[in-house]
Amino acid sequence: MNLQEFMQKVKANNANEPEFLQSVEEVIESIWPVYEANPQFKQANILERIVEPERVVMFRVPWVADNGDVHVNRGYRVEFNSAIGPYKGGLRFHPSVNLSILKFLGFEQIFKNSLTTLPIGGGKGGSDFNPRGKSDGEVMRFCQSFMLELFRHLGPNTDVPAGDIGVGKREIGYMFGMYKKIKNEFTGVFTGKSLNWGGSLIRPEATGYGTVYFAEDMLATRGMTFEDKTVVVSGSGNVSQFAIEKVNDLGGKVVTISDSEGFVHDPDGIKGDKWEYLMDLKNVRRGRVKEYAEEFKVKFYAGQRPWITKCDVALPCATQNEIDAKEAETLVKNGCFCISEGANMPTVPDGVKTFLENKVLYGPGKAANAGGVATSALEMTQNSMRMGWHREEVDEKIRDIMKSIHEQCVMYGADGDFVNYVKGANIAGYMKVAEAMLDHGVL
Ligand code: NDP
Repeated sequence: MNLQEFMQKVKANNANEPEFLQSVEEVIESIWPVYEANPQFKQANILERIVEPERVVMFRVPWVADNGDVHVNRGYRVEFNSAIGPYKGGLRFHPSVNLSILKFLGFEQIFKNSLTTLPIGGGKGGSDFNPRGKSDGEVMRFCQSFMLELFRHLGPNTDVPAGDIGVGKREIGYMFGMYKKIKNEFTGVFTGKSLNWGGSLIRPEATGYGTVYFAEDMLATRGMTFEDKTVVVSGSGNVSQFAIEKVNDLGGKVVTISDSEGFVHDPDGIKGDKWEYLMDLKNVRRGRVKEYAEEFKVKFYAGQRPWITKCDVALPCATQNEIDAKEAETLVKNGCFCISEGANMPTVPDGVKTFLENKVLYGPGKAANAGGVATSALEMTQNSMRMGWHREEVDEKIRDIMKSIHEQCVMYGADGDFVNYVKGANIAGYMKVAEAMLDHGVL
């Protein structure tokens, strides 16, 4: 079977799953030459096995609104690959959630988790429930109902979820509480927990910090730093907030934030009191970025994305396919030379092509945003040891892990003086998982 035949088979088996097929195509194109060159992988049919989730659970989640109405949402957990450790990956609550999106996220997670060098397999889950505009009571009842089914598939050595879009500290708390009550045990079955009941310092910051650390390492390959760089960030949630904080620490200037209604351009930079305002707006008042623009009298671009803004570095931190082909061209044309993806698969395939053809520093999500899951694995370690590391210790470990991910990408992706981080991340992530699958026999 050649690459085209292989992809045709995957397409036939997964019709109507465009996001999943997009992520498979991107990975398989990179690893195909390695697959061909290693007969032991072919003989064990590793690729056909790796694109098939080990297990998918789909279930009904009924819940009662404050006004007494009964609603039903759909819950999912995709347990994709456990060759190198328990399934690990976040839960997403967003109306757009469907099987295709969760399979793409779970598939990406396999390689990302492998790149962290830590023993964690790949999984992802969530629901089409929309927490926006719901009361705390409604969110709690939804989370409890969700766990009434999901609990039986989880365990600290089996499957350990975390947060993602729409799932933060509050939701993790409600879900962990329900798990603890049903199982009558206190174990590290979730990561992203609050500090006073088993969470790790720096977990909330980890993905955003890691994305910036990865960019810092990419910039260093060209003798540059963040000092005085203009940075465009999308999103305004967990990943964006801490990416902004770290860019500020390193001397850069972040000039945009966004949400699904539009973006804000603040040419003076989102820092100091303005960053504090953003944290309160999004995490306490649960407001919209438009309010930031009103508060600080800067421009809000309704219904638009921030990529038209001139910058040196771009950090997409909102969602998948948020940079289309034209926007990728605009970024490059406007002089952007470094893109580090905090979000998962935020750039469409033609956009990725543009970045690679123009030889910009392009760090794909599975490498650049791995700091979050790496810190989750550190949280699991702290939970099993029943201890907690200091802030500095955790931050240092994240820094080292991001450095090691960068090194692996360079090792497998260097092509003359250019590093193809897509190829590097895919091959490095694949090798470890494929070898473990070989060791375990045909399962
Ligand atoms: P949050 O829910 O905290 O924030 C998401 C942000 O993205 C919000 O500003 C949201 O705006 C915006 N957004 C979501 N969907 C869309 C859309 N369709 N169009 C435009 N804007 C949108 O999520 P996180 O910050 O945790 O996650 C952001 C990204 O990072 C995701 O791709 C996630 O998979 C990835 N990621 C997260 C990790 C983590 O540790 N949290 C780890 C690794 C990756 P609005 O409020 O309008 O919806």
